[in-house]
Amino acid sequence: MTSAGSSADGLSGPVGVCVDRPLLSLDRPFTYDLPSEVGAGVGALVQVPFHGRPSRGWVLGPSDDLPKRMLAVKKVVSPVRFFDERRLALFRWVSERYVAPLASVIARAVPPRLASEEGGWDHRDGGGGTTSPEGGPRPGIVLPGYRGGERSLEAIARGDGAFVARPTPDDEQALAIDAVAACLAGGRRAIVLVPEAVPVPATATALLDAFGDRAALFLGGGKRSRYRTWLEIAGGRYEIVIGTRPAVFAPVDRLGLIYLARESHPAHREDRAPYYHGRDVALARSRLEGAVCVLAAACPSAEASALGLPAVEPAVRRWPPVEVVRPGPGGRAPRLVKALATTRRGFVFSPLPGYGVAQVCRTCGEPAACASCGGILRAAAGAVACVVCGAPGRCRSCGGTSFGLRRGGAEDVEEWAGRAAPVPVRRLGENEPARLPAADEILVGGPDDVRDLGGGDLDLVAILDADLADRRPGLAARERSLATWMEAVGWARPRGRAIVQASNPGDPIVQALVRGNPDRFHSDEMRRRREAGLPVGAAVFRVTGTADLEAELRPFHPSTLLVSVSEGRTVCLLALDPERVSEFGTRLRELAADGAVERVEAEPHL
Ligand SMILES: [Zn+2]
Ligand SMILES: [Zn+2]
Repeated sequence: MTSAGSSADGLSGPVGVCVDRPLLSLDRPFTYDLPSEVGAGVGALVQVPFHGRPSRGWVLGPSDDLPKRMLAVKKVVSPVRFFDERRLALFRWVSERYVAPLASVIARAVPPRLASEEGGWDHRDGGGGTTSPEGGPRPGIVLPGYRGGERSLEAIARGDGAFVARPTPDDEQALAIDAVAACLAGGRRAIVLVPEAVPVPATATALLDAFGDRAALFLGGGKRSRYRTWLEIAGGRYEIVIGTRPAVFAPVDRLGLIYLARESHPAHREDRAPYYHGRDVALARSRLEGAVCVLAAACPSAEASALGLPAVEPAVRRWPPVEVVRPGPGGRAPRLVKALATTRRGFVFSPLPGYGVAQVCRTCGEPAACASCGGILRAAAGAVACVVCGAPGRCRSCGGTSFGLRRGGAEDVEEWAGRAAPVPVRRLGENEPARLPAADEILVGGPDDVRDLGGGDLDLVAILDADLADRRPGLAARERSLATWMEAVGWARPRGRAIVQASNPGDPIVQALVRGNPDRFHSDEMRRRREAGLPVGAAVFRVTGTADLEAELRPFHPSTLLVSVSEGRTVCLLALDPERVSEFGTRLRELAADGAVERVEAEPHL
């Protein structure tokens, strides 16, 4: 054991450094000698010589892995300490679980620095601040009315455990406030993760209204304001941090709660390397820091429900009555048309864009298909274009541009609903932010328009084309459809009605919507996912590399291993027991160093 000293200001002696080279083949700490006069500690950004060139890196802590020749840390680059030991433990967990270089995890977890914002910053500023249990809403307003609610309040006060919460549509914001209030009352701090930044989710707005300047909104914004807010959070300025994915890494001390709003929303998953899922990172962080994790959604994901966590559920039905009707002639059930006639404020969910799909060429009579790629041609905004390649619609057989249409899609719905309704019916424009209908207005919208917009109080919510639930891309298509429907149907609370058009009323997905409870649907989904070889809870990776990749991955006993070849590279999609991910990651790092692995994508959208 070497003597890596530590003083109030930092470390000296041999230290491990994570060099800012985000490559799996270099994903290990490098040992440098840290002179005490440099004044660096854990989380400091320093300059080190690496392969003969000055590079940046982060100090990880004392090291007893001594190389033959140890180079020295040159200098500290920033007065800011970007993480402490506890957050480093979280970064290491992310690096291991998603087989991502630690350097890329750190680079994603802290915002890009701007030296101009760091004036006067002292790393001893970090981790301070006070919590004031006084002021703001009292806890225990909403949760005691839920099954499992009292238990979750006690857990939050104690700071231990994880829950899946299903707020009713009326309580979505209030439940978040209640959980945060309970955390603050215990003298601890909270992180609230929301899936989207624009428009600001109603949950975020409600928390800001309730807690005022005790809460930081860490959502979107420019580089400068993001970095400034991050420094203020690190300085202990806020008791609550509300933000999208990266907020799960926010430098919050004395963490008591991580609350994930709309847990099943796909935006909680990071789509760029390093890939991670906010839900899993939130669960890991709360375990590591002795905090409570609440996964909240009207329709939780199959992954969340498979965790076997205690549930916080409505004790009584507070769900709109949902009527199931078969789509009638022209895709409209008579009961729906009749309901529209008395609707003043409503929302019609129509998942398909456009006016309809070209069926037949009017010039030559052949079935319609794109002249460039053979794809489907759709009429939208007065023009026909290919759904696949985007080319203007021309017949593959004769080049003709006039087609017989099968009508269906939001534009068509806008037209017929407009004839049935006593108030204007509108579609939201492509760049128009999602919103609830105004007074005396019916909106027609698709999946992108269903967001956390707050209580709806609508007269009618209609769900069209429920039969297309499977057609959304990906393995979780049905679950995603159900979550969207449930979020939209919630807008009919407290007095409105909901009508869903479906050909098969007995389908578990339709029944889940009627009941306002996805439990039985989830057991159906889990069976489907098992049968597809990608069971819920498995760790899934897409690995790209050389031809011997398959033979290298077999020994990890994947429940599924699909191999394909693309542009001369071998691509393996595999599902693993999460217990095996650690050894799998070690092997992939070796293979990357040998040049046999080029790219690893964790939890790809399937
Ligand atoms: Zn095409
Ligand atoms: Zn033709």
